[in-house]
Amino acid sequence: MQSIQPIHQNIKDLTRTGLRAAVSALDQPAYRASQIHQWLFSHRAGNFDDITILSLALRRRLSSMYTVRTATLDEHREESDNGQDIPTTKFLVRMPDGQSVESVLIPSGDRITACISSQAGCPLKCSFCATGRMGFIRNLSPGEITDQVFLLNDFLAERYGEAKKITNLVFMGMGEPLLNMTNVLDAVLTLTDQHYRFSLPQRKITLSTVGLVPEIGILGDSSVKTKLAVSLHAAIQEKRESLMPVAHDYPLDELKRALSEYNRKTGQPVTLVYMLLDGINDSPEDARALVKFAKSLFCKINLIDYNAIVNIKFKPVYTGTRELFMRSLLDSGLQVTVRKSQGATIDAACGQLAAGERPHIP
Ligand code: SF4
Repeated sequence: MQSIQPIHQNIKDLTRTGLRAAVSALDQPAYRASQIHQWLFSHRAGNFDDITILSLALRRRLSSMYTVRTATLDEHREESDNGQDIPTTKFLVRMPDGQSVESVLIPSGDRITACISSQAGCPLKCSFCATGRMGFIRNLSPGEITDQVFLLNDFLAERYGEAKKITNLVFMGMGEPLLNMTNVLDAVLTLTDQHYRFSLPQRKITLSTVGLVPEIGILGDSSVKTKLAVSLHAAIQEKRESLMPVAHDYPLDELKRALSEYNRKTGQPVTLVYMLLDGINDSPEDARALVKFAKSLFCKINLIDYNAIVNIKFKPVYTGTRELFMRSLLDSGLQVTVRKSQGATIDAACGQLAAGERPHIP
């Protein structure tokens, strides 16, 4: 009878604390964990034999218990007329099991933001989103999340020189990060670990959620201090539910209480992301509802443009409508930023590249 080989855990899924436990179980001193961390994440070892600082015997023992699996960059598309030195670039990243997810590099002045995925597909079915239409495939492991950042940093270094590095990270790609919170937070710990060559401060990382109330509570209590963005998109309950079915489970009043509690526990603001959709959520009444929701929160509002997707009924708003909407928020004393659409020609809305859908620009 053929024996079934166990699938060993990818050692890149372990944080440095996890690596410490792993080496301790092998009767190795704690500093080995830092060495392995450095070789995996800074020197980008592709297998245990690459970690030449370890004895052959230890490499053999590790490879009998773990593997080193690495994602690869597949297709990429560039939008060079973005007014920046570096084009907005969207990647299809292929995971070791062949599953693909999307990651995007978004340059803006001195900043280079990487937008990465936390899940393959997504279970939440927001009506404006191509990923939601794909359905849920699986959670990404911590190593698969961090690999996206390493690969994009490598791409930047190869194309534009070592000085170009990711400065900010947003979890706004495929998936709802707070539905995969343990793996996302482990990935954040690795990416912000000082042993990692490109270590980012935790406050340069933003987790984005549709507004999962229990998970926002857990995040407020966590020792990991990233920024939090909430995709609001409507401050009128029925409208929000029609755009985001999950809003039915977490009504606006509960969400507001959770955000207020998050403000209190962390002392940090939240970003309310509001995507303006022509004729859907862009009226004076919508603006008034948004003011009412946001007024007593420690928050800023980020108005964003919609990247139109073929077969989805929504359209981006006209500039004049956006200006009027923004003016009414500013007049109410709210802090507002506007993010203009980048990547309209490269399918940069999440899920478009993986779903193979071309954007439809009116
Ligand atoms: S917008 Fe985000 S949460 Fe909603 S379906 Fe798309 S990936 Fe999922």
